[in-house]
Amino acid sequence: MAKYTGPSCKLCRREMVPLFLKGQRCLTDKCALKKRKYPPGPPRKRRSKLTDYGVQMREKQKIKRMYGMMEGQFRRVFEDASRAKGVTSAQMMSLLERRLDNVVYRMGFASSRMQARQFVQHRHITVNGRIVDIPSYRIRVNDVVEARDNFKANPIMEESIKLSKAVSSVPGWIEVDYESKKGKIVRLPERSDITATFNEQLVVELYSK
Ligand code: SF4
Repeated sequence: MAKYTGPSCKLCRREMVPLFLKGQRCLTDKCALKKRKYPPGPPRKRRSKLTDYGVQMREKQKIKRMYGMMEGQFRRVFEDASRAKGVTSAQMMSLLERRLDNVVYRMGFASSRMQARQFVQHRHITVNGRIVDIPSYRIRVNDVVEARDNFKANPIMEESIKLSKAVSSVPGWIEVDYESKKGKIVRLPERSDITATFNEQLVVELYSK
């Protein structure tokens, strides 16, 4: 599957919002968005006003890029959300949060979703005691996500946990035991659990055309 391999910070600058793609760096003054507060590309005196379609498109790109997904995957999540009961936009965000790579990131075991994805793909993570190496694996209530025994002392993970403890970033739908490097899903994520200020309704409008 194709994947974006360019500079992560450029994606944030394109959207002009922090997408937190580079772990600890995003919380420091080294964040490219703090140093260069303009979109990438040649300087322009005036930026043309976005059309309604353009606004919807940008919002979709923001969410998609924050979760590190390609168009096809993202669209499939939207389609699943539109088939589910309830408000499609809220369902879509809940499904995105339930991706295994996101859960590993939310637990604080990785400092970015990209790093979490690598942990999953490299078979360092188990779900209910079984290795799962699929980043898009959708977790359910009562699932237990755990680092494998031979990975529990990994210094990169230790560093991420330290950062997570410092900023208290674990959301209410997850219970984490940092001693045993294990976390449990106690309920499904809701929109109010996600602090990012997206207007996901615009994505629904875009895909419903
Ligand atoms: Fe985005 Fe993080 Fe880069 Fe800042 S440091 S621009 S938040 S990826």
